Amino acid sequence: MPSFDVVIIGAGPGGYVCAIRCAQLGLKVACIERSPTLGGTCLNVGCIPSKALLESSELYHRAGGEFAKHGIVVKPTLDLPTLLARKDKIVHTLTRGVDGLFKKNGVERFEGRGHFKNSREIEVLDSNGRVSHVLEASSVVVATGSSVATLRNLPMDGKHIFGSTEALSLAEPPNHLIIIGAGIIGLEMGSVWSRLGSKVTVLEFMDSVLPGADLDIRKQAQRSFRKQGLRFKLGVKVQSATVSEAGTVAVSYHDKKGEQSIEGDAVLVAVGRRPNTAGLGVENAGITLDGRGRIEVDDEFATSAPNIYAIGDVVRGPMLAHKAEDEGVAMAEKLAGLPGHVNYSVIPSVVYTNPEIAWVGQTEDQLKEQGVKYTRGWFPFAANGRAKALENTDGFVKLLADARTDRILGVHIIGPVAGELIGEMALAMEFGASSEDIARTCHAHPTLSEVVREAALDAGGRVLHI
Ligand code: FAD
Ligand code: NAD
Repeated sequence: MPSFDVVIIGAGPGGYVCAIRCAQLGLKVACIERSPTLGGTCLNVGCIPSKALLESSELYHRAGGEFAKHGIVVKPTLDLPTLLARKDKIVHTLTRGVDGLFKKNGVERFEGRGHFKNSREIEVLDSNGRVSHVLEASSVVVATGSSVATLRNLPMDGKHIFGSTEALSLAEPPNHLIIIGAGIIGLEMGSVWSRLGSKVTVLEFMDSVLPGADLDIRKQAQRSFRKQGLRFKLGVKVQSATVSEAGTVAVSYHDKKGEQSIEGDAVLVAVGRRPNTAGLGVENAGITLDGRGRIEVDDEFATSAPNIYAIGDVVRGPMLAHKAEDEGVAMAEKLAGLPGHVNYSVIPSVVYTNPEIAWVGQTEDQLKEQGVKYTRGWFPFAANGRAKALENTDGFVKLLADARTDRILGVHIIGPVAGELIGEMALAMEFGASSEDIARTCHAHPTLSEVVREAALDAGGRVLHI
């Protein structure tokens, strides 16, 4: 029986990064992945293909309207097959890249479904459910990720009612796309198909888009997306959907006024993701799940079973690729006897819409709830020269700092390249920086990063350009 120091189940950003880092640290490591391609949700049907589509659709949209403001008059036509093929090529290149990294680092790959025979032996099952290998491991890391969550009474057929995976490859823009859920996927995929020509209506259970974000960000985001033509029905409870013979879909929902119905050509269900534990044989290994079906782990990623650990989307915490990756690195370092560590209070979130949205640390509401006294710095992109040159002035930076120590507690950005700007703020928070540290750091002119600096200046009561 092949024997390893570490067997990792799942080759998403959590599992494949953990495998590479284990190998770098001299551990003998195997990775079991059920999909023929490596990279998990993120590379195959998540972060990467969605960002490729967001970029292409944004260019198409800008060419159709905003270019004229620059004095460039063009009439773009959409070649959707080429647009989708570009996305597929990026996915192919990156997933093959992980294959290359496995080979380079000496990670042994097993294709098939990992299944606990007991707490030390893992079976690899082929597509017919037959055992192709049994691996023995001193330690096992479960990194099986998550899948699209479904709704009762909305059976997905993959054609009229579907999840994010199908929404990445629609053969044509639906005339009317109904999206259930105004979270990150709803807004990103809604932006893509709206820019490519669909009428998009988003039905959301809560009373605003992006329920986890800071209130000012939510308000501004809603205004910006409405201006772009996205329609929102907030505070609604979706009941069911039926597909007609003609292929249209009627979604019935409940709002303040009572029972309602809306008809569209396709429905994207984007109401979250559920952890992948089915078929893993957790019961054979003595692994306990929490109330939400996630594998229960302690601060060291240890499950209830000895020498079995879990990381990424399958455990508590935000379902984000960089969180999974950081846990993968920390996990490997712990297994090699080093002090692996993840700082959960400094994990940035980014929504890749236009305007882009990014935040790190605490929201204003969270600080109020905790009774923390804070100062607030604010600066709009509309007062920044580079944003004007880019013709992209929607949004602002909001910085929250401790009123007593000036230490930065949270930063919330909506505006151009917010996802890049938030990196400086995450670093600042890791270093325990104050708003004055940012305000006194020279930022190049003219750059969007000056908006961050001006927000820091504003927190100290000495903003310069408004
Ligand atoms: P996954 O990436 O889900 O990988 C788990 C792997 O385990 C899969 O390859 C699966 O096939 C395999 N597996 C499962 N069970 C078994 C088994 N029994 N045996 C063998 N293999 C198994 N996050 C971001 O940070 N930024 C983004 O921009 C972003 N965009 C997204 C867009 C979309 C449309 C979606 C759906 C998600 C997006 N995410 C994004 C979330 C991100 O993809 C996940 O947080 C991340 O992939 C989680 O990594 P993971 O390694 O825990 O799990
Ligand atoms: P989400 O949790 O971000 O949003 C789901 C939304 O659906 C919420 O606003 C929720 O209130 C709403 N909802 C739930 N049930 C509903 C119902 N019955 N009717 C109407 N609305 C309902 O989930 P998601 O958008 O599906 O994304 C899944 C995960 O993938 C997220 O955890 C996210 O972190 C990750 N993701 C990240 C990125 C990124 O980092 N850019 C992009 C895509 C996905």
